[in-house]
Amino acid sequence: MECIFCKILRKEIPSKEVYSDDLVYAFEDINPVAPVHILIIPRKHIEGLDKLSQEDIPIIGHLLYTAKLIANRLGLDPSSGGGGYRIVSNCGKDAGQSVYHIHFHLIAKRQLGWPPG
Ligand code: AMP
Repeated sequence: MECIFCKILRKEIPSKEVYSDDLVYAFEDINPVAPVHILIIPRKHIEGLDKLSQEDIPIIGHLLYTAKLIANRLGLDPSSGGGGYRIVSNCGKDAGQSVYHIHFHLIAKRQLGWPPG
């Protein structure tokens, strides 16, 4: 089965770009669960956190740093008066993973509950 996020990376499916560079791409989630809901994905197809290898460590570090840059750009930093944000990566069916191309959700601009549902 074709990976929907790989199609987005190849521009075969439209997306609302938030950030792009050689390693990662960020875009708005099509079904937002909060006023800010952005997906950050690596250009490399990795199915999920369980499929990460040691060679992917720089990609994931870059991806998380990108999340921080985007949050900063959107004024979400708690250290600068923003309300904060949550980064989530669902791994496997019990966690609710529905797309098997690793991604981090950046969710913000509403009070989030804990524990998650
Ligand atoms: P997960 O359920 O953690 O695997 O997250 C997958 C996310 O991808 C969900 O929040 C979906 O709403 C989102 N999604 C699926 N297809 C698209 C798409 N074509 N464009 C943007 N977001 C999408």
